[in-house]
Amino acid sequence: MHIVPESVISDLITPEAAFDAVEQVFAAMAAKDAYNFPVVREAIGHEDALYGFKGGFDSAGGSLGLKAGGYWPHNLEKRGLINHQSTVFLFDPDTGKVSAMVGGNLLTALRTAAASSVSIKHLARKDSEVLGMIGAGHQSVFQMKAAVKHRDFKKVIGWNYHPEMLSRLADCAAELGLPFEEVDLPTLGRDADVIISITSSFDPTLMDAHVSPGTHIACMGTDTKGKQEVEAALLKRARVFTDEVAQSISIGEAQHAIAEGLIEESDITEIGAVINGSHPGRTSDEDITLFDGTGVGLQDLATAAKVVELAVEKGVALEVDF
Ligand code: NAD
Repeated sequence: MHIVPESVISDLITPEAAFDAVEQVFAAMAAKDAYNFPVVREAIGHEDALYGFKGGFDSAGGSLGLKAGGYWPHNLEKRGLINHQSTVFLFDPDTGKVSAMVGGNLLTALRTAAASSVSIKHLARKDSEVLGMIGAGHQSVFQMKAAVKHRDFKKVIGWNYHPEMLSRLADCAAELGLPFEEVDLPTLGRDADVIISITSSFDPTLMDAHVSPGTHIACMGTDTKGKQEVEAALLKRARVFTDEVAQSISIGEAQHAIAEGLIEESDITEIGAVINGSHPGRTSDEDITLFDGTGVGLQDLATAAKVVELAVEKGVALEVDF
């Protein structure tokens, strides 16, 4: 088997490679060539940790495996480690033998940013110029960097629940050569052409009334039952897309609109159908499109498989007879 440690991954995979891997696997999911297994996520009663598994099989891409890991909230303050910890395991689909173990921390950020940027490529108005960021945590900069590759953004505006964190967005925008402005939520909803929301919120922050027609919104933070970033009524007004419908209605942003009876499961379209050309996606410049990015195991497997390929090519994968 090949082992690719976390420490070498940043030199191997680019956001572009992660984008291609995620776009392909979303397409394979919609074509029913790839499917995710039910997610396991447990509060283990130790260190307040949430631990779980996300896995799947992509018969088109040949990836079988799982990502194991979760969230250890005291890591940073107690041990100087990042709070999200994960590892991807890949298996040979022909034999069941384990084929690779890959660090999953950077991959998680890259595959999550790739998902929202896939949605921007396929759903945002072509003339989008203002990028609105809600959230300024660890993932936010990956999101911004991936997004700017897909539209000719002229400006970034941002809001965060903890305003003292906004310098992270300002620094990232400066690195990308874009002006940054801190705004309130009604201004963000009114002025942004594309909004990325990536927070750990359990209450809606972006309200339906804030959002202008024609906006594309990527809701990326809600990946657990109970979390919520936008008002449920916004999903009724929007055309709703997702990575996987089963996750969208149970642990994604759509869980609330479904529970309140505002939309039905059949109102939600897998983004892969737009990639494959079997769904038109946005149909007018007035449509609000909303991508509910819940994070599926197949994104992890696709990016991990790409990393293994690159690590073997560059001779940095450790080979173990297992
Ligand atoms: P982080 O802890 O670094 O940052 C958290 C962000 O949420 C900060 O901007 C913080 O100010 C904000 N926040 C905290 N409490 C809030 C509240 N009550 N209301 C509004 N905002 C609040 O986390 P991160 O690594 O940037 O991840 C952000 C979220 O994205 C997490 O919820 C994480 O679970 C989720 N996530 C989703 C995917 C996916 O595939 N969809 C992948 C990775 C992470």
